[in-house]
Amino acid sequence: MKEIENELHRHYALLLGVESPWTVSDVKLDLAVKKVEIALQWMRGNQVPCPDCGKLCAIADHAPERTWRHLDTMQFETRIRARVPRCQCPEHGIKTIRMPWAEPGSRFTMLFEHFAIDVLLASRSFTQAAELLRVDWDTLQRIMERAVARGLKQRTLDGLAHVGIDEKSFGSGQSFISLLADLDQSRVLEVVEGCDQDAGQALWASLPEERRARIVAVALDMSPSFIAATRASVPQAALVHDKFHVARHLNEAVDKVRRQENKELLEQGDETLKGSRQLWLFNPVNFSDEQAAAFERLKYSGLKVARAWAIKELFCKLWQYVYEGPARAFFKKWFGWATRSKLKPVIKAARMIKRHLENILTYLRHPITNAVTEGLNSKIQSIKSNARGFRSFENYRIRILFFCGKLKLHPL
Ligand SMILES: [Zn+2]
Repeated sequence: MKEIENELHRHYALLLGVESPWTVSDVKLDLAVKKVEIALQWMRGNQVPCPDCGKLCAIADHAPERTWRHLDTMQFETRIRARVPRCQCPEHGIKTIRMPWAEPGSRFTMLFEHFAIDVLLASRSFTQAAELLRVDWDTLQRIMERAVARGLKQRTLDGLAHVGIDEKSFGSGQSFISLLADLDQSRVLEVVEGCDQDAGQALWASLPEERRARIVAVALDMSPSFIAATRASVPQAALVHDKFHVARHLNEAVDKVRRQENKELLEQGDETLKGSRQLWLFNPVNFSDEQAAAFERLKYSGLKVARAWAIKELFCKLWQYVYEGPARAFFKKWFGWATRSKLKPVIKAARMIKRHLENILTYLRHPITNAVTEGLNSKIQSIKSNARGFRSFENYRIRILFFCGKLKLHPL
């Protein structure tokens, strides 16, 4: 009987990957509830290595018994149970020694955490992952927090040169978050609450000073708060106003012209512009035949919105210039046309672009945009919509870094 027991203990030791001086001292199988509990014991002498300096020290005592959830074995929920020795280091005092199966402070073995991270990455839904792993939400959140902390600790920022700083709405759209992204590696580096200058500064402060000093160019929108924060934190970097943000301002101008003109036309019983909103905003390449035909008619209608649209379209040529001189000459011509258009929203947008022209032309030397973070946004949105019971900004930050940080999340 004793021999069979020893054999069973050896079998579980192998399964768990525990090696001397740890040994399996007991295995409890509960067939009714399909659980197995494996007791481990430290077997070697009375000296243990200090977790801080590695020096062999006397055993002070044993920590109270704890359990760790492990990967299921044959569909049996499996737990490890042990009293871990504490060493008496002359330099570091009384310390719990490192366990080969778990990270300090975790209630799970490393193998379980590894698996949990894979499940989370694969399922992208908290509910599904929690069900598969048979853990609750808080537990899962803590596994994620630990994974992100682990990843941030190991992250290298070597060669970081092009970054983007961008804002997103958060929660029900009432509040905002700001993101710092590595544009070369398409990863989110940090997330903070708010989108004011303090938020911008907090993002920059998350990078070590010697890293900040090597930033070459920054993609950002034309908001004064991000401009001020970036100038103060990375004075050597070129500011590049994101071309999609610039395009958005022009699109909004076209839309304003359309709304106003549509209203005027409807008052005269003219429905020419009714339902045409998308035609002026979307890329004609994606139009259906019907839409394309309708748009051909409107484009040459001599309407104000058609003029606004043509001005917006022409502006896009700016991005294709290679040299600054011709680009400036082009802009001058475009600006003259836009400001003579008598279309107030267009004139306003053109003046805004002119005010920021220097940091728009930087695009010719540093063709970067925040499209990376736009892409991340859809990923983040899907996290958000899946995140039922989603509580605080901090949880959100952890999720963004978990899914979009390209971190080494696993403990092994
Ligand atoms: Zn020590």
